[in-house]
Amino acid sequence: MLKGGPLADTYRLVQFHFHWGSCDGQGSEHTVDQEKYAAELHLVHWNTKYGDFGTAVKQPDGLAVLGVFLKVGDAKPGLQKVVDALCSIKTKGKSAAFTGFDPCGLLPGCLDYWTYPGSLTTPPLLECVTWIVLREPISVSSEQINTFRQLSFNKEGEAEELMVDNWRPTQPLHGRQVRASFQ
Ligand SMILES: [Zn+2]
Repeated sequence: MLKGGPLADTYRLVQFHFHWGSCDGQGSEHTVDQEKYAAELHLVHWNTKYGDFGTAVKQPDGLAVLGVFLKVGDAKPGLQKVVDALCSIKTKGKSAAFTGFDPCGLLPGCLDYWTYPGSLTTPPLLECVTWIVLREPISVSSEQINTFRQLSFNKEGEAEELMVDNWRPTQPLHGRQVRASFQ
């Protein structure tokens, strides 16, 4: 659950996913002073007052997405269970059991953040998201991020199309105010 800060209600985690690059110099969907990170984690939460995710995405305060930057350096132990699961779902349509995971292990030590009202970054791009983007990146090893880069868009047996650069470029602010939780 996520609450407090810019959120007036309680939000429940429904899924998390990552965006990453083909190299370490790109991959994040947010930038800090024009700087891209190697990847960005999105922890997607929906406002429990709307009863279900599908109803929530139609509301301006329906979702809260916690964004976490990834940089390449030391390994992130809390990410390894995800990395290990990727090896069994390399191609489209595969699935793997994934239970008993604590997403708190994906967070950095400091929870300072920027926040602004925005949208989903994939179609239908609904304007339903309170973005909360953490200032401190987590560090992941090159072996860990390379496992993401070895995933494929294609089904097993089809021509290999590596799943890289699945990030949307930054968009104009259009007058939105970005606020910080820190000075
Ligand atoms: Zn995302």
